[in-house]
Amino acid sequence: MASPLTFRRRFLEQLPGDPRTDNTTRLVRGACWSRVLPTPVPAPRLLAWSRPLAQELGLDEPRMQDAATTQVLAGNNLWPGMDPYAANYGGHQFGHWAGQLGDGRAIVLGELERRDGTSVELQLKGAGPPHSSRRADGRAVLRSSLREFLCSEAMHHLGVPTTRALSLVATGEGVVRDMFYDGNPRAEPGAIVCRVAPSFLRFGSFELPCSHGDVALLRRLADHVLTTFFPELGAPSADAYARLYQDITMRTAELVAHWQAVGFVHGVMNTDNMSLLSLTIDYGPYGWIDDFDFGWTPNTTDAGMRRYAFGNQPSIALWNVLRLGEAMLPLLGDESLLDAAAASFQHTYAAAEVRRYGAKIGLAGERQAGDEALLRDLVLWLSAQAIDMTLFFRALADVARLDRLPAALPAGLRATFYGPVPAAHEVAGQAWLARWWQRAREGRDGGRVAAAMDAVNPRFVLRNWVAQLAIEAAELGDLAPLQRLQRALERPFDTPAEFDDLVQKRPDWARHKPGCSALSCSS
Ligand code: AMP
Ligand code: MG
Repeated sequence: MASPLTFRRRFLEQLPGDPRTDNTTRLVRGACWSRVLPTPVPAPRLLAWSRPLAQELGLDEPRMQDAATTQVLAGNNLWPGMDPYAANYGGHQFGHWAGQLGDGRAIVLGELERRDGTSVELQLKGAGPPHSSRRADGRAVLRSSLREFLCSEAMHHLGVPTTRALSLVATGEGVVRDMFYDGNPRAEPGAIVCRVAPSFLRFGSFELPCSHGDVALLRRLADHVLTTFFPELGAPSADAYARLYQDITMRTAELVAHWQAVGFVHGVMNTDNMSLLSLTIDYGPYGWIDDFDFGWTPNTTDAGMRRYAFGNQPSIALWNVLRLGEAMLPLLGDESLLDAAAASFQHTYAAAEVRRYGAKIGLAGERQAGDEALLRDLVLWLSAQAIDMTLFFRALADVARLDRLPAALPAGLRATFYGPVPAAHEVAGQAWLARWWQRAREGRDGGRVAAAMDAVNPRFVLRNWVAQLAIEAAELGDLAPLQRLQRALERPFDTPAEFDDLVQKRPDWARHKPGCSALSCSS
């Protein structure tokens, strides 16, 4: 028999809750959570689960395959010790204060204790409406759930801090969505993802009590975050709150630099989608850039403003960090800490960007005077013509393997462009390559330089069109493409040749296809 699982109740015990237990839509004050049970679904079916994560959690294969487990992962049953709740938070959406948002369709089942003594929250997304659903249905469709399930795990294997995903369960129930808000609603298959993280607290978790002028709640929340997740920052005090804010600032800068280095676009960087633990959180209309286009956003709702476009992510992250600082101000007591945070964000981000992009092009050893110019010129060159970001950096490593730099643009690099390469662009590229060769390659073992580059430049990323193919198959009942992607994403850097068809440039059919280049918030 499987050993019993232990669930903790730290969040429930350390933070005040809402006395009401019904899920009537309402505003909640003075509480960080409200008790709510998932709404049962008619015909749950386990579509996929993450073997590496289950292993980490001590959930063995027989338990994961057990029909009784599917009932729990669908919200139809609870394991002993689970005590479900929805968290309360607010947020700035697209630059404007939006008031109380809260978990509109996410329900934490419990905090699972792991063998190493740490614990993680198991949270169902799409499990039915809590009090904060704002009259929406609390459900999620298969297409967006499958995307969240896969991308959480893909990011983890890339080494990017992220919430995880344990399972993807089909509910057997239709969910009506008007995907492009154009008056064409239709029923789509519903699904539930079981998300896993030490905490799902967000910047918005602080913003809501601050907006209510509830300093006592703000303080309890900060104390919970400090003592539970950052004990090394010291016992709660004004100084410790300042260190916490500073720490979140720097980790957020590091996180976004990591996104920029792998070409990930979050798509909805509202403050309610920014994790206090600096995890990538709330995978909605996210996307991966194909060509190196700073103006690209996958989010159709943002197509006009492009607030959350690839190139804006660092400055938006800083904007969000400042909103967090304002929310924490009653605890910090010193407005100058926000200026300090802005400076420290910029410094941390700039250093992380140079470090990550430097590693991408194989710069080793001490930073040299020309390094930043070398990187800046590369980025300008890459963004001037449509070139596949992921393929380019792998092809550059192949150039590093050569004995000498070819006189013309190497064929491998040329193949990563989406169209013909203008002659002037080719000449500029060749000039850049010569500078790069001298700095990164000359006098070094080419094989070693290339291997170091391949260790940081993914070969497999969850390209939008690749995920879309798995969605279309899954909607027709074919899970093979999904299962294949699960195997590929575990090997992002040394992806085996059997997955060659998944590491190709975006095909023409995907260029403007919904789900590939244009993703809806309606999920
Ligand atoms: P997002 O930006 O996708 O993270 O969502 C913004 C807010 O809307 C969050 O508070 C969500 O919980 C809520 N939300 C999104 N979809 C639904 C839904 N179908 N039912 C209830 N709440 C939702
Ligand atoms: Mg959200």
